[in-house]
Amino acid sequence: MRPIYLDYHATSPLDERVWQAMMPYWWERFGNPASGGHAYGWEVQAAVEMAREELAASLNTVPESILFTSGATEANNLAIQGVAAAYYAQGRHIVTVQTEHRAVLEPCQHLESLGFEVTYLPVQPDGLLDLEQLRQALRRETILVSVMAANNEIGVLQPLREIGVMCRERGILLHTDAAQAVGKMPLDVQDLQVDLLSLTAHKIGGPKGVGALFVRRDRPRVQLVPQMYGGGQEQGWRAGTLAVPLIVGLAAAVRWALAEWETEQARLLHLRTALWQGLQKLDDVLLNGAWSPRLAGNLNVTFQGVNGAELHRRFQAVMAVSAGSACSSGRPSHVLQALGRSRQAAASSVRFGLGRWTTATEIQQVVDYVQEILPELRQKSYIKT
Ligand SMILES: *Cc1c(COP(=O)(O)O)cnc(C)c1O
Repeated sequence: MRPIYLDYHATSPLDERVWQAMMPYWWERFGNPASGGHAYGWEVQAAVEMAREELAASLNTVPESILFTSGATEANNLAIQGVAAAYYAQGRHIVTVQTEHRAVLEPCQHLESLGFEVTYLPVQPDGLLDLEQLRQALRRETILVSVMAANNEIGVLQPLREIGVMCRERGILLHTDAAQAVGKMPLDVQDLQVDLLSLTAHKIGGPKGVGALFVRRDRPRVQLVPQMYGGGQEQGWRAGTLAVPLIVGLAAAVRWALAEWETEQARLLHLRTALWQGLQKLDDVLLNGAWSPRLAGNLNVTFQGVNGAELHRRFQAVMAVSAGSACSSGRPSHVLQALGRSRQAAASSVRFGLGRWTTATEIQQVVDYVQEILPELRQKSYIKT
């Protein structure tokens, strides 16, 4: 039997309705949307533009401001490196946060090697950004602030609207990595005053390998230097033949996720509360990150007094969870360390990611199992040390 899947922050299974929506575009509708001279091109171009309109409407923006990418990693790279290259004459300072995903941190580090200066803001012990600290970090030469909407390890939601207001007042662009937030709550880029927003399909029942970047076209009109050149697709911002079936799947995934987000959020909140209550029956279990505001499907805890490697080995038999993000497995989480946890505590932490197919029975099984093995694990670690 396969382990219980509790790693929805890493990826999610495809929603069957998304699969249905994509089907025709793998077979009969195989044209290239850039083929402007015949019906094979027209029909898929129409599908791509419908997906663009739908995605734009879900973010409360215009279709021209949506460009399709291979996922959130590419969208983050394009946003950060594209803005840096377009605005370097105005300033070479960027502000981001220590708990960002590596797809934000690494482009920033690359820019440092090119002569940009990057401020990596610390977070408070609950994982939230201190707005006063952000205010003090902003300078005349700051061109971009990048703060994620929802954290992929601890699930906390950053105060985007307040950050948006602060950046707008100073004429600084705001980018947000919303890979974990899109489809789980309504996001309105006008209300949030966000200028660039990255998203991906596969975290919300969509296919892997597709995402999008929202780029504000008006007040302010954001400039970007493309990071990929070729056929001039996506208004020249991102060359390459569009992945038509995946783009159709992305729009469908967002559609279905948003149609059900409220009931799904309530359901997950209920399950997560049961999980947390069950784990709290054990001593020395710490919650990582604020309880609220937080993604309903996220619980991240540190089990004190156990060997991390051993803990994860035992967990593997019954459930699919991870210590940190999927992309950084093997290293102690930089996010938990930013909250002030030691490397050792970070290693004996578990990220539970609940999602669409998680059931109450599964949560009960997980609670029972952890209650059974933890005292045993603690005893072992105690003997060792
Ligand atoms: C998953 C994730 C990414 C990477 O998205 P891909 O589409 O897999 O490239 C980036 N940022 C966050 C916060 C994520 O959770």
